[in-house]
Amino acid sequence: MNLKPFAADPQKSLGRQFKENPSKLRNDFQRDRDRIIHSGAFRRLEYKTQVFVNHEGDMFRTRLTHSLEVAQVARGISRTLGLHEDLAEAIALAHDLGHTPFGHAGQTALNECMKEYGGFEHNLQSLRIVDSLENDYVDYKGLNLTFETREGILKHCSKKNALKLGEVGKRFIQKTQPSLEAQLVNFADEIAYNHHDIDDGFRSGLITFKQLQDVLFFKEICSEIKSESPLINDRQCMRATIRRMMNIFIMDLCEQSQGQMDKQDLISINDVRDAGAIIALSEDMTKKQQTLRQFLREELYLHPRVQAMTDNAYNVINSIFEKLMQNPDLINITKAHSQNELAILVSDYIAGMTDRFALQTFEKFCQSKTS
Ligand code: MG
Repeated sequence: MNLKPFAADPQKSLGRQFKENPSKLRNDFQRDRDRIIHSGAFRRLEYKTQVFVNHEGDMFRTRLTHSLEVAQVARGISRTLGLHEDLAEAIALAHDLGHTPFGHAGQTALNECMKEYGGFEHNLQSLRIVDSLENDYVDYKGLNLTFETREGILKHCSKKNALKLGEVGKRFIQKTQPSLEAQLVNFADEIAYNHHDIDDGFRSGLITFKQLQDVLFFKEICSEIKSESPLINDRQCMRATIRRMMNIFIMDLCEQSQGQMDKQDLISINDVRDAGAIIALSEDMTKKQQTLRQFLREELYLHPRVQAMTDNAYNVINSIFEKLMQNPDLINITKAHSQNELAILVSDYIAGMTDRFALQTFEKFCQSKTS
């Protein structure tokens, strides 16, 4: 690995919450990645919605395949820029661990249920999972990850919550930046989902090839591909266009970010934390990204079929929450000292559910009342 001096360095890590002996075979970021992959929360991502509810079809992205795609994009960018690939990979694989079942609808529902009790943020939940909810280790709660991985997982955080988090929350109060590896994972996340959501939208029939021609960037690349391969069919053209668009975004991100890194006088990761955002797309590609985002919002996320799915999710999460708050013994919660503590235990339980487990729980505990 040809690392830049301001890349994250496992030897100079700000460390783990509980001190551990180093591994003979793996650096600390590799260990973080391995702990994440072997966690129960990571395995549950297989049955959590990205956009399409898991049982809608076997070919759609899930939170798990999304996380793998983000990790692949992040590793490539990281290697090109001379940053620490293992850290970028660990952050990418963990970045969505805290998502509720049923994607964003689930998160909105749970956030509303939790309004009186501090709300629900999926980023914060990802951190709670790796810091305390995973319980496979005898010596500590959670996965005891390095500061750098935890910092990267906490992509956003309200000031109110940041104040409760100690060191890892400080950057949201002081308005400083995380490592470049953390910054690039955010871009890898959006590059991955914008493109794979187009692909899934097309596969589902909710987005047509004709509609996509309204996105100028898509149209241009698509006609370029058709002129190179006149016999190509729509499906192959769609795939080839998505691949080329992703490649253009990634190349632009690498060039822009390299330019930013060259301009700044960066000697260590501390300089990165004090500088402004360094990983960036060009203005032109930022606009193209916004257009893609808007297209997906209007044509896919707000599509009546996706909406119907999300409305149902909303009802499921709400009903389970209410039921468990009134009957915590149903899930063996016996020692909550306050309503607030109870709500957090119920919220952790619901957030950890897969889509199908949430549906089963709804059927078991709530169906007779609501049907
Ligand atoms: Mg994501």
